[in-house]
Amino acid sequence: WKHAPPSLAWLIAASRAHGARAFTVYEDERVSYDANFRAVAALAHALVAMGIGKGDRVGLAMRNLPEWPVIFFAAASIGAIVVPLNAWWTSGELEYGIDDSGCRILFVDDERYQRLATDNPALPAIEKMVVARASVALDPRAMRLEDLIGTPHGYATLPDAELPSVALLPDDAATIFYTSGTTGNPKGALGSHRNLMTNILTSAFSGARTYLRRGEAIPDPTPKTFLTCIPMFHVTACSATMMGAVAAGNTLVFMRKWDTIRAMELIEREKVHVTGGVPTIAWQILEHPDRDRYDLSSLEAIAYGGAPSAPELVRRIFTEFGALPSNGWGMTETMATVTGHGGEDYLARPTSAGPPVPVADLKIVDEDGVTELAIGDVGELWARGPMVVKGYWNKPEASAATFVNGWVRTGDLARLDDEGFVYIVDRAKDMIIRGGENIYSSEVENVLYAHPAVTDCALIGIPHRTLGEEPAAVVHLAPGMEASEAELQAWVKARLAIFKTPVAIRFVHDTLPRNANGKILKKDLKVLFEDRVAA
Ligand code: ATP
Ligand code: MG
Repeated sequence: WKHAPPSLAWLIAASRAHGARAFTVYEDERVSYDANFRAVAALAHALVAMGIGKGDRVGLAMRNLPEWPVIFFAAASIGAIVVPLNAWWTSGELEYGIDDSGCRILFVDDERYQRLATDNPALPAIEKMVVARASVALDPRAMRLEDLIGTPHGYATLPDAELPSVALLPDDAATIFYTSGTTGNPKGALGSHRNLMTNILTSAFSGARTYLRRGEAIPDPTPKTFLTCIPMFHVTACSATMMGAVAAGNTLVFMRKWDTIRAMELIEREKVHVTGGVPTIAWQILEHPDRDRYDLSSLEAIAYGGAPSAPELVRRIFTEFGALPSNGWGMTETMATVTGHGGEDYLARPTSAGPPVPVADLKIVDEDGVTELAIGDVGELWARGPMVVKGYWNKPEASAATFVNGWVRTGDLARLDDEGFVYIVDRAKDMIIRGGENIYSSEVENVLYAHPAVTDCALIGIPHRTLGEEPAAVVHLAPGMEASEAELQAWVKARLAIFKTPVAIRFVHDTLPRNANGKILKKDLKVLFEDRVAA
């Protein structure tokens, strides 16, 4: 750059240099870096012409479509605050996000438009709705995205314009991402340009770390192709994968919706190097009966995080795919990655989520919120660094409780080892206290996962009159495998203190219910034990 510091607008303009290389691939649509930039510039000017500017909230409720990054970059580059909304949400939940963030304008795909229009003919209180790929006649307040920038097929013929010139500082707000809502109502985390841009460094470093730790040269850093099957409206796909992609010239192969066969077809067709996002994706490919019919040999890495993963998965990814497994820990409040590791480090410590990335600090704090605990002791994980957001949007009380002197209290229970690797053992809210004894879900789940028949499981607490809570488990068995409740209880009893043995185990036919971010909805599992509780 000549004059401007490397802001998001600079980055997206500079990504033009990746030229004809594909930025996004979706079905038969390929949008090159050059074409993507043309669409971003056209839309950024259109937004300015509509009177959208710095600090205005721009809602984005859409599945993974090539339009998603175009809208994201156009709005963020003019200083607007992008509000990615969960495409799984019902119209009521979408309205919560729109109202809470105060969106002036909302970008939606056809499905989201119909969801909002059908359930609420008045449409939420926003000034304008812009609909991508609309298949129905639109409300007078709505317009087609195609009328502003054309379709992805035509982006390459848009004029070569510069972005509108808007002065952006690193601490200006860029995004409001909502937390997954696993433990309560989703909260909007207000992210800055600094938070977002930090992920470029983090992504670059996570690729290099394995080699640097071994004292080896980093191999030829050619751009990689990512199968992006996790939703863009969560931080992992947006700020980790997408920001990293733009910097490195990677290609993102989008899936609108997860489908294991389709994923394997795409890995073969596009010679995908990296996939993952959440651990379930790796499991679903590993366990698919038709896996051998696809050529998955292009896979170099399977990277995931965001939810607890079975130690078993690490070894299987390595031996069955010949790919490097990697795991990272982060949260919406940290705009994605804070810790991470892969390859040999991870194989040697399969229950760890890695050490912190550069410029992140971790500490383990006692329940009093003050005392730092010794290495090896379990307590609440606190994190600090340029990825930590300043606070929640519109929630001063929750912000004051969570963000303390630049640190974020994560609500996760963890321990550190003497090399600085972190081990997440449970969420504080999910920890089971049985008659005063703490039981961390992950410890018991990891023992269950080690049983050859178990492929998915969750430990939850069920009420007990005198003990307070008791551990119970929900288990999904691998196809064609069998194991009884008594057998699994004996398996746990042989490996852990007796009070950690699930007092009841329920078997489910499908894998366990998860939210859009791959997290098991533990609060929805309690009903499986209702008959027992009543007895
Ligand atoms: P809410 O805060 O609304 O209840 P949520 O915490 O699930 O929802 P996210 O910000 O998407 O929302 O998720 C962050 C949480 O995910 C972390 O606090 C942690 O509990 C879990 N998590 C993230 N990465 C990992 C990992 N590698 N291993 C285990 N758990 C992880
Ligand atoms: Mg959370």
